[in-house]
Amino acid sequence: MTTEFENPNFETLLSAAQINARVKELGTQITIDYAGREPILIGILKGACVFLSDLMREVNLKVSLEFMAVSSYGKAQKSSGEVRIIKDLDVAVEGKDLIVVEDIVDTGLTLSYLLANLQSRGANSVKLVSLLDKPEPRIVKELKIDYCGFQVPNKFVVGYGLDAAERYRNLPFIAIVKNPALA
Ligand code: 5GP
Repeated sequence: MTTEFENPNFETLLSAAQINARVKELGTQITIDYAGREPILIGILKGACVFLSDLMREVNLKVSLEFMAVSSYGKAQKSSGEVRIIKDLDVAVEGKDLIVVEDIVDTGLTLSYLLANLQSRGANSVKLVSLLDKPEPRIVKELKIDYCGFQVPNKFVVGYGLDAAERYRNLPFIAIVKNPALA
């Protein structure tokens, strides 16, 4: 019997071991860069949940945790980069050091909106960590990913938090979906 983890429609792009090793490196770098500070890690739901839970355990600092959920408007409005905040932070962030934790940056529209929104609340600093960077479809060219796990090709990927119609977030690896119509 083929299991979901061995789905023939998946081509493994990043193994669990590769992800694990890179997440450790990112956590170590953040630990060094934020020494003596107490950043707030802001996970963007739902895709970043797996990455965030692994990453936070590699950050050897006093951190606190927040979540935001956003939804993009329809295609027509996408170029405006406007997103709707579905779930906002539970705390004020004035004077705080914020690290936004995202699964993947694609066009960059969602993140550029979110980072500007957080900065406008008077944060001391706002940085971005994204597990994946898909540079090809980028619209917001100036978006800076401060901590990036891996660059990936312009293909639809799932696993390790990333979904296709809400499925496959639980895959321990990241895979390219060979035929998205079958996903
Ligand atoms: P952006 O505003 O950068 O275009 O959108 C980023 C969001 O699009 C990600 O948080 C993710 O939800 C979704 N996304 C972009 N590329 C992929 C992909 O290859 N696979 C999945 N599952 N989601 C993606």
